[in-house]
Amino acid sequence: MKQNMKIRDIRATTVTVPLEAPLRHANGCHWGRFVRTIVEVETDNGIIGLGEMGGGGESAEAVFRAMKGYLVGHDPARIEEMRFLIANPTASLYNNRTQILAALEFACLDILGQAWGVPVSEILGGRLRDRVPFAAYCFFRYPDPATGTGEVRTIDQVLKNARALKQRFGFTSHKMKAGVFPPDYELAAYRALASEFPGDSYRFDPNAVWSTEQAIRFGQAIEGLRNDYLEDPVYGLNGMRRTREMVRVPLATNTVVVNFEQLAANVLDTAVDVILLDTTFWGGIRACVKAAAICETFQLGVAVHSSGELGIQLATMLHLGAVIPNLSFAADAHYHHLKDDVIQGGLMRYENGTIRVPRQPGLGVKLDREKLREYSELYKRLGGYPYDQDPGRPGWTPIVPNDRWADPKDDRPVSIPY
Ligand SMILES: [Mg+2]
Repeated sequence: MKQNMKIRDIRATTVTVPLEAPLRHANGCHWGRFVRTIVEVETDNGIIGLGEMGGGGESAEAVFRAMKGYLVGHDPARIEEMRFLIANPTASLYNNRTQILAALEFACLDILGQAWGVPVSEILGGRLRDRVPFAAYCFFRYPDPATGTGEVRTIDQVLKNARALKQRFGFTSHKMKAGVFPPDYELAAYRALASEFPGDSYRFDPNAVWSTEQAIRFGQAIEGLRNDYLEDPVYGLNGMRRTREMVRVPLATNTVVVNFEQLAANVLDTAVDVILLDTTFWGGIRACVKAAAICETFQLGVAVHSSGELGIQLATMLHLGAVIPNLSFAADAHYHHLKDDVIQGGLMRYENGTIRVPRQPGLGVKLDREKLREYSELYKRLGGYPYDQDPGRPGWTPIVPNDRWADPKDDRPVSIPY
């Protein structure tokens, strides 16, 4: 009988990878780059599994180092036990490690896949599809401070950007990320977008910054369009439920149903139609597969959420998207805004709006050590950025519900150190 593997070491490296342009959202901005922490879990037989988590810096690297005290000597196949070891629900009141657990779960699944010679999708039940469809992720953007290009602010720019994305990547579903400008302006922009490609489908996400009444007003105004869903128009299950009573468009969330307690509450007193599963927020790919099964039982819609990913996280989204039968919508990914990646072979490729599910053992991605070093150096030089601040509006606070919108006529460039 084969001997069990043991975890020997855990390493974490924070990187920052440039975006084409700063991405504006309802609660702040991605300041022209993503900050991610890459996790490597090494076993006693020399297999290295990869994980990824949003954010980073010394504190994230230290958190993963501290997990060695729990996990060195642990069998990476015992993933369910690892959940209770580092993220026991009561202990989590003091020390919430859901996202850390997720990154380590990715790495353990990657190890098992490599050890057993199968892709992660086969550990999770086997793939139902070879490629996962993705939606275009259409953000309002500041121009890239270095080149002055890439701005998306006017409705013409929204359409030009969407046309370019469709041509380059083949998307047939288009998501407008909003909550930045006054709702009537964004309604005009969404209507223009939704009439641009007949036959395609559309989704709108103002990141939960509206009042319930504003959500109802907007929701009713888009009822005739080809909507996949209206995502998080308002914050909280009760506001979503009140909106849903008044609006004939499916509502989706990645904000207020992000764990099993909330999913149960939503089943018992439904407020949301479509649950957007995030492999990090839920604590791993397996948690998302379990949640998808509950959604299948109760006939709720499911899609794959993106919290901003590099290739390792994207691989987790692909394996998830491959194995759940009820993937009723295209997945989201910020991925097409990235200029580069830390995986071998560079950025994964889109074809007809889809990305191929990796077939190699494990997650199917390997680190490009040179890129990891380069973007770790870049992180050390630039540091983090405040995701919940807008570089163009110093002193602005993203209150909820918001009444402090950006001005669509304001075309002043922003300065972001780089
Ligand atoms: Mg969202």
